[in-house]
Amino acid sequence: MNYPARPTWVDVDLSAIQHNLQQAFSLCSPTQRVLAVVKADAYGHGAIPVTRALQDFGICDFAVATLEEALALRRAGISDHLLVLGGCFSGQEAVFLEFNLMPTLLDVDTALRLNAQALKRKQQIKVHLKVDSGMGRVGFLPQQLEDFLPQLCSMDGLIVEGFMSHLACADDLDSAVTVAQRNQFLLLLQMVRDAGLQPREIHLNNSAGLSAWDCPECTLSRPGIMLYGGLPGPVFSTKLNLQPVMHLRSCVAQLRRLPAGSGISYGHSYHAPRDMLVAVLPIGYADGYNRLLSNRGQGILHGQKIPVIGRVCMDWTLVDVSHISGVKVGDCVTLLGSADGLSITGDEWAEQLDTISYEVFCRIGSRVPRRYLPVS
Ligand SMILES: *Cc1c(COP(=O)(O)O)cnc(C)c1O
Repeated sequence: MNYPARPTWVDVDLSAIQHNLQQAFSLCSPTQRVLAVVKADAYGHGAIPVTRALQDFGICDFAVATLEEALALRRAGISDHLLVLGGCFSGQEAVFLEFNLMPTLLDVDTALRLNAQALKRKQQIKVHLKVDSGMGRVGFLPQQLEDFLPQLCSMDGLIVEGFMSHLACADDLDSAVTVAQRNQFLLLLQMVRDAGLQPREIHLNNSAGLSAWDCPECTLSRPGIMLYGGLPGPVFSTKLNLQPVMHLRSCVAQLRRLPAGSGISYGHSYHAPRDMLVAVLPIGYADGYNRLLSNRGQGILHGQKIPVIGRVCMDWTLVDVSHISGVKVGDCVTLLGSADGLSITGDEWAEQLDTISYEVFCRIGSRVPRRYLPVS
């Protein structure tokens, strides 16, 4: 049956991704390629359409977080290099080999399992060896790497295709941590080469690293958030010229005239200070419209900002449109992104919620359909 959907959706502006990718290219050295990070459903933008668009823009290296995310891309016919940042968990080895997926190699045990599975199948598997150069999260610590290298060199089922690390403080432009991490990274790279390994790909920089720190040794950079128009940190607001990709919109379902003094939504956390015109939007926290935006969020309607009033509910949100002329049921309100020359950026939301734009984007719920605006 054909019927119109609830009028709440996300517009994903693919030409904005193209623009942001150009920004990433302009920060890469001439010999570096972009490995586009499309984990978490491309930060909530939709991994398959976004990956296809990035392919059209010339990208052929991608990274996801999990095996499931990688398989979804393979099922969609995406046959490019796919790096699984979360590594290969016990029991997943055969699937990695079957679907030609590259795990990030984070520990000795996984290396043993992958090697055994590859040899059993008379195959080899490419891995990206990850070192902890100071991030303090995952990967081989320097001493572990030194102890492991002779054994790794003897594993005929493994090809050490890549050598990588991750920066902890790249959004701090004068971070001594980053300087130390870069030095450690290069030292460990030399150790790996001295052991006789020749990783073809070397990579360190996420969006913040790419925006602030050169890596002449690197063959790849790994931008994520900047492709989606989010700043990798507040310090980059003047340095990077990014366009928002995600635009969250919801259309007025009902208009209600309420007398002064009316209590609004759960808990009556808001009382109408005067006679008001209130618009009801069919969106709520189940769609990722965060409940912490109760009495704080904003929308854009007819070229003006309108405030969210009362508690955000699971499926409904109320906005004050008293000052907007000519509002009708069906008019579209933009809650994130831009409209009529105004914008509400992911970074602005994030500041209100005491988080980062990454979380804002990837929390927009799966209930909200994504529409893809073609490249103009
Ligand atoms: C998520 C991730 C990235 C991308 O980071 P951004 O800050 O979004 O650019 C790069 N590398 C690794 C290992 C990651 O987990």
